[in-house]
Amino acid sequence: MFTLKVIKVFSAAHNLREYKGKCEKLHGHNWKVEVEVQGKKLGRSGMLIDFHDLKKKVEDALAKLDHGYLNESAPFDKINPTSENLAKYIFASLNRHLPSAVCRLSKITVWESDTACATYKE
Ligand SMILES: [Zn+2]
Repeated sequence: MFTLKVIKVFSAAHNLREYKGKCEKLHGHNWKVEVEVQGKKLGRSGMLIDFHDLKKKVEDALAKLDHGYLNESAPFDKINPTSENLAKYIFASLNRHLPSAVCRLSKITVWESDTACATYKE
C-alpha cells in the first residue's frame, strides 16, 4: 500500500457558537490541511497519482473556503466551523473528485495552529 500526502494552506475567519471563550469572537486562522490518499497499484509512470493533480484537486476543494467568513456559507451557517467539522467537510468535498479506481482518500487533518489539529477518516 502506498500513502501520499500533500499539504495546502487556506486563510479564513470564523467564530464559534455556543462556546464560551476567545473563539466565540470573530477571528481568523491560516488553516493547514493535510490530505492523505492511499492505493495499491502504481501507474506506468511509477506514480499512484501525480502530486500536481492531487494538489489541484485540493486547491479546488478549498477554493470556496479561502479568504471567506466560514460562518456565512453552508454547512457552517448551521454547524460550527470547528477544525473537526472542517476536516469532515473537506473529506466529503475532495472525495467526490478523486479517481476512485486509482486511489482513495484515507484522511484529512486540519491544523488551526501549530499545536492543534483534528483528523477525520472513514
Ligand atoms: Zn478559531
